[in-house]
Amino acid sequence: MMKKVLFVASECTPFFKSGGLADVIGSLPQYLNDTDDCEVRVILPLYSQLKSEYRALLSEVMIYHTEVGWRQQYTGIFEMIYEGTHYYFVDNEQYFKRDNLYGYEDDGERFVYFSNAVIEFIYRGDYKPDVLHGHDWQAAAAVAIAKIKQPVPGIRTIFTIHNILYQGWMEHAAFGQLFNLDMVHFSGFEWDGMLNLMKAALFHADKITTVSPTYAEEIRTPYYGEGLEPMLNYRSGDLLGIINGIDVNDYNSMKDDSIEVPFKTSIPKKRQNKKRLQKELGLPVSDAPMFSIITRMVEQKGLHLITRILEEFIQQDVQVVILGNGLYEFESYFSYLAAKYPGKVYTYIGFSESFSRKIYASSDFFIMPSLFEPCGLSQLIALQYKAIPIVRETGGLKDTVMPFNLYTGKGTGLTFANYNAHELLDRLNDSLVIFNDPTLYRTMFMNITKVNHSWSQSAHQYLDIY
Ligand code: ADP
Repeated sequence: MMKKVLFVASECTPFFKSGGLADVIGSLPQYLNDTDDCEVRVILPLYSQLKSEYRALLSEVMIYHTEVGWRQQYTGIFEMIYEGTHYYFVDNEQYFKRDNLYGYEDDGERFVYFSNAVIEFIYRGDYKPDVLHGHDWQAAAAVAIAKIKQPVPGIRTIFTIHNILYQGWMEHAAFGQLFNLDMVHFSGFEWDGMLNLMKAALFHADKITTVSPTYAEEIRTPYYGEGLEPMLNYRSGDLLGIINGIDVNDYNSMKDDSIEVPFKTSIPKKRQNKKRLQKELGLPVSDAPMFSIITRMVEQKGLHLITRILEEFIQQDVQVVILGNGLYEFESYFSYLAAKYPGKVYTYIGFSESFSRKIYASSDFFIMPSLFEPCGLSQLIALQYKAIPIVRETGGLKDTVMPFNLYTGKGTGLTFANYNAHELLDRLNDSLVIFNDPTLYRTMFMNITKVNHSWSQSAHQYLDIY
C-alpha cells in the first residue's frame, strides 16, 4: 500500500536554507516520490524570505485558528506543487515575518505554534497522512502531539535528529502557556528541570533516526549526547542511523550554472575553474593548491583547530578561500587573516549558494575538521565537485570519507581522529605531498569520481521504516 508521509520541517531548499537540513528536506522527498511505495508531502513555516517567484505559485487552502495555550492564533495554510512534490506552508506573520529563520527569544513559542498548527491542519483537512515524520527540534513538538492527540487515529510518527545540539529548551511554565495538553503529559516533555521538545519527540516517536550510523552510536554517549544520551539508550531498539544523500542532479558540475567550466572528471578542466576564481577574487593566478572552507562559523565545525594552525600552514605556497558566517570570533579571525595575507587568503563573510558552488568546484581540498558532525553535506558536495575532503573522523564524516592509504592507493580523503590542531596540520601537510605528486593525486581524484552519495544509496532505508 502506498504510504502517505508528511515531513514536518523548518527549512527546505530551494525555499529556505540555513544549513544541511534544508538540502535533505529539499531532496529526499523527490527521491522517495519517484518510488511507488510512498508519497511524501512537506509542511513548512511560511517565512517572509520566500522569493516572489515561489510566492506566485502558492494557493490558499485553509484558514483557521490554532490554540497556543489560552490564545487563538491565526493560521493560513497555503499549498504549492513544485517539481512534482506537494508543499504546504503555515502562514502567520507574527511568528514568521522576521529577518532571519531563527535566533529569536521566542523561537520556542514560534515552533510550538508551528507544531500545533500542523496537528490542527491534519485534524481539520482532507489530507490524512499515515506517517508524520518530524525533523529536528523545530518539529519535535508535532511528533509528540501527534502521538498524544491522534489527529488521524493510529498515525505513526518518526523523528529524525539532524543535530542534537539544538533541543528546544523552555521553562516549565511554557507547558501551560503554549501547549493544550493534559498535565499527565508534562513528564513526557520534562527533562532536567526544563521542558525539552526534542526529549518529548524521543519519548513519543515510534521510530527515531539520525543521519549517519556513527552519529547514532555517538549520541548514546555523554560526549556527544548533549544530555539526551539516557533517552537514546532507553530508545536504542528504535534508533537507526541512515546516511544522508545529496541531489546529484542539482550538484552536477556539467549543469551547474555557477560553474564556468563544466568538468565532470577532468582535472585540467577543474583547474580552469580554479584559475578563473583566482582571477575573480584577486588572488595570484597560479597552480598553487587551493583549500576551501564553507561553513556556519560555529564551534561545532572545528574552527578552533583551524584558527590554531592556519597561519602556520599558509606560510607555504597555498591559497585558502573561506565562505561563512556565524560567531564574531571566527568571522573576525578569518577577515583578519585575509587582510594580512591578501595573496593567499580570501574571506567572504556571508551566505551565498552560488559562490559556495563555485568554491567547491574550484578548490583542490576542502577542510572540515568538525568537533561533531551528524552527517555533514558539505563534504559530500566537496566529493561531488572533486575537492578532496580533509576531515576529522566523527559522525557522518567518518562514514562518508574513506582515509587515503598511500600504499594501497585506496581512499577518498585525508582524515584524523583526535580533536587536535596538529593532527589537522599533519593532514594538511600530507595533502601537499599528494598534490605535488601527479600520480598520487590522480589516483585519489579517480577514487573520488567513483563514489556515489546520491539518495539511491540510502533512501530505501526510509521506505523500510515507513
Ligand atoms: P550544517 O547543516 O551543520 O550547517 P552541513 O555540512 O550538513 O552542515 O550542511 C551545510 C550546507 O550549507 C551545505 O550545503 C553548505 O554548502 C551550505 N553552507 C554553509 N555555509 C554556507 C555559506 N556561508 N554560504 C553558502 N552555503 C553555505
